[in-house]
Amino acid sequence: MRPAVPAARGAAPAEETRQPPAVELRGVSKTYLQYHEKVDAVRDVSLAIPAGEFAAIIGRSGSGKSTLLHLLGLLDRPTSGDVLVEGKPTAHLSGAEVAAFRGRRVGFVFQTFNLIARFTVLENVVLPALIQGTRPDAARRRAQGLLERVGVGHRADHKGVHLSGGEQQRVAIARALVNDPALVLADEPTGSLDTRSSAQVMDLLAELHEEGRTLVFVTHDLGLARRAARVVELADGSVVRDTREARRPQARKPRAEATA
Ligand code: ADP
Ligand code: MG
Repeated sequence: MRPAVPAARGAAPAEETRQPPAVELRGVSKTYLQYHEKVDAVRDVSLAIPAGEFAAIIGRSGSGKSTLLHLLGLLDRPTSGDVLVEGKPTAHLSGAEVAAFRGRRVGFVFQTFNLIARFTVLENVVLPALIQGTRPDAARRRAQGLLERVGVGHRADHKGVHLSGGEQQRVAIARALVNDPALVLADEPTGSLDTRSSAQVMDLLAELHEEGRTLVFVTHDLGLARRAARVVELADGSVVRDTREARRPQARKPRAEATA
């Protein structure tokens, strides 16, 4: 589906390759103002996500998981520190430059799907492609193909809100893929789903990783987190644990050995 980037497949940690991390936080903090109080949602976090990684972010509610994910995807910008994407600093970029970049390189999946209610399923998936300047007929073809792939092709002409939660999330995954992003970020993607739909959505996300994309997801569910090759735990805006396990599935191509 996406052009082959050999080093990204079954990627080893960045230090073993010449390839820069897909995305890297360097000394990143994010402070929000809530009424007149400052809230340090993310505190001085340095975290590199190598290309091809499959990582889970866990932590209690309010620990900064969503903020961290938004920073990784340039959906939000740090108060201090820098976010490097494929080795390139982004702090100096304008909002428009960041938005253009994000639109092409990052796919987001949210807990509550965030489909546009008055649009059909197909229109929801087509929209980000049109925003990136893809010709409408090509965008529609690609969107329909992705909907087939995630198993909701037969629902293309329905309004998104009429679908079940599991179907809506599969539409949202198709939407996240329409611009063929190298990096897919999912914030509690199964948090609103029943067990069976959760499993289907997790299988889909695992597939995206297997085909060479970098995948980072937030979850409350330790069972789901165990499916990832790396688990990063946050507490109070800081990384308190960061483990990689050899046992965990890596990309389809077997890799020699895990580090850490
Ligand atoms: P999690 O996803 O782990 O539940 P969040 O990243 O959503 O945590 O939030 C971390 C902290 O930052 C919380 O105290 C939350 O209230 C605060 N926060 C998050 N987003 C905002 C915002 N847009 N404005 C103000 N405070 C925020
Ligand atoms: Mg959250």
